[in-house]
Amino acid sequence: MPFESSATHQDLQHFLTEPGCAVCRVMAQAEHRYFDALLYENVLSPPVHARLRAGSGFCGRHLETLMAMRDPMATAILYGAILDDRRHLLVRWRRSSRVVGRTMAAAAQLAEAGRNCPACEAEDGAGRRACEVLAAGLDAGTLRPEWERSSALCWPHFVRTRRLCGTGCGVLDDHEAEVLDRLATDVDTLIRSYDYRWPGERTQAVDTAWRRVVAVVAGRFQGGQPHARPPHASPDGSG
Ligand SMILES: [Zn+2]
Ligand SMILES: [Zn+2]
Repeated sequence: MPFESSATHQDLQHFLTEPGCAVCRVMAQAEHRYFDALLYENVLSPPVHARLRAGSGFCGRHLETLMAMRDPMATAILYGAILDDRRHLLVRWRRSSRVVGRTMAAAAQLAEAGRNCPACEAEDGAGRRACEVLAAGLDAGTLRPEWERSSALCWPHFVRTRRLCGTGCGVLDDHEAEVLDRLATDVDTLIRSYDYRWPGERTQAVDTAWRRVVAVVAGRFQGGQPHARPPHASPDGSG
């Protein structure tokens, strides 16, 4: 299948028209889909349990996503399985005269939660694919119009995409530079607007510059751009 008819290419065509980094949006969508599939279809799936147990559950960020979805039964099933592993380990330790997990490295590993987080893996895979397809789309020109009208990429995804670009690199750089320059002007204006002698009203672009600058530097909507709402939560967050 040619890359321009792939689902990722279509996602990029759509997400490049929305505010913020399109690759971050693809990743947010992958996170959303991961948890949807987990809670609706995979809560009892043995391979999913094995994967979660092997990595001691989710990383901190994805644990927050899981808790925000307020699914007591699914959460109890998933984390109950990990608790059972811990209890069995403790039984073995209490029976054994051998000292287990007393070296620094072993103890650190046994104490760790959420290493190899499966939700991170789903997101990272989608993000990698999106950078590859965007680079190919800029090289072939199929994503150029959308790119040039977009709000550009966060810095981490810009660097990753740039590494993969060939002939499209100039187009990538030009638009990214234009957007970053505009953002820098908005940030400057925002700072100056706190001077009591500041004469006017702030535009919306200036008002939101503090969030946008964090989102661009840190990626993943860290600056508080619209985050994908967990599928089960109600709009007011009461779930
Ligand atoms: Zn991004
Ligand atoms: Zn994670």
